[in-house]
Amino acid sequence: MISLRNRLVLTYALFICVSVLVMGIIINRFAEKLFSAFVTENINAESAEIANTISDQWDPNAHSFDVISVEAMGMHFVHEGYIVSVVDMNSETVWDARACDMQQCTMVINEITGRMENEFGIGGSFQTNQFLLSYEDIPIGYLNIETFGPYFYSKNESAFLFGLNRFFLTAGSIFIILSILLSVFLAAEISKPILKASEAARHIASGELSVRVPAHYRTREIRELSWSVNDLAATLENGERWQKQLTSDIAHELRTPLTCLQGNMEAMIDGVWEPTTERLSSSYEEIVRLNKLVEDMNRLSILEQKNLILHRTEFDLTKLISAATERFRPAALEKGIEITLVNPGEIIVNGDYDRLTQVFTNLISNAVKYTDRGSVTIDIAETAQYWEVSVTDTGIGMGEDELPHIFERFYRSDKSRSRNTGGAGIGLSIAQIIVSDHGGQIHAESKAGEGSSFTVRLPKGI
Ligand code: ADP
Repeated sequence: MISLRNRLVLTYALFICVSVLVMGIIINRFAEKLFSAFVTENINAESAEIANTISDQWDPNAHSFDVISVEAMGMHFVHEGYIVSVVDMNSETVWDARACDMQQCTMVINEITGRMENEFGIGGSFQTNQFLLSYEDIPIGYLNIETFGPYFYSKNESAFLFGLNRFFLTAGSIFIILSILLSVFLAAEISKPILKASEAARHIASGELSVRVPAHYRTREIRELSWSVNDLAATLENGERWQKQLTSDIAHELRTPLTCLQGNMEAMIDGVWEPTTERLSSSYEEIVRLNKLVEDMNRLSILEQKNLILHRTEFDLTKLISAATERFRPAALEKGIEITLVNPGEIIVNGDYDRLTQVFTNLISNAVKYTDRGSVTIDIAETAQYWEVSVTDTGIGMGEDELPHIFERFYRSDKSRSRNTGGAGIGLSIAQIIVSDHGGQIHAESKAGEGSSFTVRLPKGI
């Protein structure tokens, strides 16, 4: 199968050759037409000039032509391609080129006929035109001029025409060579990145996801193609990384409590450990936590499916947030944290009550969970287009390196893991999906050691 590069070069080259050929033919025909019109006019002017010159050889005193001068001029005109004969008013020949030098006339006739037929492909024959000769308006005789018709080129004129054609041929050839070189360059510029992109796609297909193609090209479509290939590789790479992360996270989240539970059970079955109520209820709590984790995972996978159906109803957002806040008041009290809701009054929205409850429960739960002293403040503000609910705490906060990852599934900061807070790193992912399904956004600001602030923006129209 022909390669893209060769195909482009061939197409360009063919197009250029045909264009140059057609242009050459048109220019050549046009130039020849103009030139032949010019030459025909020249022949007519020259013939009139010959008539004048011969008339000048009239001797008014002798009432006859100066035959010696007429012969000298006549032979000169023969060399130019004009076979001249002069007759007087009595139809008697004064001078005839053919009679004077038949050999020379035949040579000129043959030469011009040959040149016009062989070199220019113009067939014709010598034709005679007659001119009346006069001296001071008195007729003195007739001049017969035989010339090759319809027109003929002198040696100089045919040399000029050949020069012109050679110029067109040389210029055309140089143009064709330059254009083909340019087309080779252009074809390479188009085909190279496409080849690179297809090669990269092959690598991606074989699982080499780290492959990237250069994307600095000037052609927009090619640049976009390179970007798409790179984006595809990056997305697949992220997906693969996420999948590995997910598998290891699930294994990690489940393995430790399961091993612990297994050990406890074995010890109790073997009679090493007495199955006290305390031990049994601790194991039970662990099972509850595991169950919750599996449930969270299930909920996340359902939420991540497209076209999530929201069960919208009209309700008071302030009431929902107030109820969520109250649920965490005992925990906050126990930790000695002040929890405050700045109540702005009734805000009627149209949304999924249960899912939005889940969002604010997650945010307030995190705020209480990651705060040891100080306060948790929930504030509801109004902008032109949004209701903005912010949950601000004075807790452990997060570093700049952690902040971009907190909405990723199963992401937990090292601090959070070491605290054994029991979370699975799913809460914020779930919150983000729910908020964006309501047409809103969720945004976090935080400083390590100083606290965090999560803001949920819900469009007013909901
Ligand atoms: P988790 O169940 O672990 O809390 P989330 O998805 O709710 O999972 O949160 C992801 C991570 O974001 C947490 O592990 C924690 O590191 C960080 N995080 C969330 N909220 C806060 C907060 N208010 N203060 C400090 N860190 C937080």
